Formats: sequence, C-alpha cells, structure tokens
Amino acid sequence: MHTQAPDYFRRPDLSLSESDFVAHCVDDLERLIAREGADTIAAFIGEPALGTGGIVPPPAGYWDAIQTVLRKHDILLISDEVVTGFGRLGTMFGSDHYGIEADFITIAKGLTSAYAPLSGSIVSDKVWKVLEQGTDENGPIGHGWTYSAHPIGAAAGVANLKLIDDLGLVQNAGETGRYLNEQMRAALGDHVHVGDVRGEGMLCAVEFVEDRATRTFFDPAKKVGPSVAAALLKRGVIGRAMPQGDILGFAPPLCLTKAQADEVVSKATEAVREVLG
Ligand SMILES: *Cc1c(COP(=O)(O)O)cnc(C)c1O
Repeated sequence: MHTQAPDYFRRPDLSLSESDFVAHCVDDLERLIAREGADTIAAFIGEPALGTGGIVPPPAGYWDAIQTVLRKHDILLISDEVVTGFGRLGTMFGSDHYGIEADFITIAKGLTSAYAPLSGSIVSDKVWKVLEQGTDENGPIGHGWTYSAHPIGAAAGVANLKLIDDLGLVQNAGETGRYLNEQMRAALGDHVHVGDVRGEGMLCAVEFVEDRATRTFFDPAKKVGPSVAAALLKRGVIGRAMPQGDILGFAPPLCLTKAQADEVVSKATEAVREVLG
C-alpha cells in the first residue's frame, strides 16, 4: 500500500505551503492506518530522499511528522538507504541527515561503490532482541543464502569504506554537492521551461515543464527529458532521464571536484538551451 509520496513539486494543490503539504502527508498516512488497522501493518518503508523516484528530497519536517505517527501506532520504520547510505547526502546515512530513527536500514549500492556486489540490512537493538528471543523460543531463524557474506563482496566493502573515510568523501559529497546544487539553480532555475531544481548532497535534478506558472507538464511523447540527456551525453556528461517525468537527474561520484561541478552545470545549461531554447 502506498501513502502520499513526499514530493512537494507534485503537491495535489499548488496553493499548499511546504508545511501544509507535510500535514497532508500525515493526514493521508493516518487515514490509511485507520482504514487498514495498525495491527495489520508490519512496517513503513521509505527512502530518506527519493532516488530513482525523481531525486526528491522531502519537505522540511516530513520525517519528524511521519515518525510521530508511526510511533503512536507502534509501526516499524524501514529506511531504504540503498541510494542514500554511505555518504550520498553528505552524512554517512540519510537517516542521520533527517533525524530518522529506523528499525531497519537497507544498504547496498554505496557500500562497495558497485565494484563488487554486496548488500545488507542493519537492524536496531529492538528488532535484534526479537530475533534473539525468538531463537530461544522457536529455534534459529534461517535467513541465509548460498552467497551470503561472501568474502569477495565483504572485502570490497571494507576497502571501499576505508577509501570513503581516507578521502573524506562524505564531507566532499556535502560541500561539493551543495555547490553543484547552488550553481545548477543559479544557471537554470529561471529558465522558462524549468519547473524545479532540487537536490540534497551529491544528488541534483532539473525538472522541465511546458508552463511554470500552472505546472503543466510536457506531453511525454515529446521526450523532452531524454532529449536533454542525449544532448548532454554528446558533450561528455552522463545525466539520467528519470522515468517519472521530464527530469534530468545527476548522481555524480562522491569525489566530484568543484571544477567538475562547474563543467556539469555549464554543459547541462548548453544541453537545455539546445533542446528548449
Ligand atoms: C537500487 C535500489 C534498490 C534495489 O536494490 P536491490 O539490491 O537490487 O534489491 C532498492 N532501493 C533503492 C532505494 C534503490 O535505489
């Protein structure tokens, strides 16, 4: 079951302020819980900031408000940190960034920077105690796979985490990521067909619209997002045309320099002008 996604740009009513929209998200979740019954809900799962869903940081206060609801109804919280884990937002975990106290954290991509496959789940003490006591009462809980904890993946993870520390990549993701977002907003924020420039840490997105004032989207058949991504690739920069709209997404390596951020921004600006004038 899905509750309202914390995507302020897609708020149901353009007149809603950010805090109105958070209240709307809370209300939507409360109504879902009332309809289903809290005791039938195993957990709430969400990304600290949406990645593949369009690179969407939540509105201010979203996670505090949602956690208040979940605690009230004793519903567990799973923080899906496959994208945000290991520095992407300028903190080691997205949960640190937004003050999320999760019962589970899922991890994968950033753990090895994809040089070798490795994924995992971090469990809180509260969850761990249940597993431990359940083992006493019901026998061991089997959750292994053939290649679980494979030494090659684990070695790559350890080596990668050491590099993240030694090279100061979490701090760089925060600082250079903020710079990238500021420069992107300055370069493209006022373009007549740019509806939103948003991001957090080393994530940045530019969303294109036909009309800014009314937030009218382009006809998807025009393929505006993919055309801009193609114009950018021609200039040697890889952006991603995200599937949820005409959204050009950036998730640069955490080692990006300010000079490289400038290059991403200037080439993105050229690509947008080529396609949209
Ligand atoms: C890529 C991704 C996943 C998928 O992880 P798998 O290990 O392929 O299941 C899950 N969550 C998020 C946020 C992702 O970006």
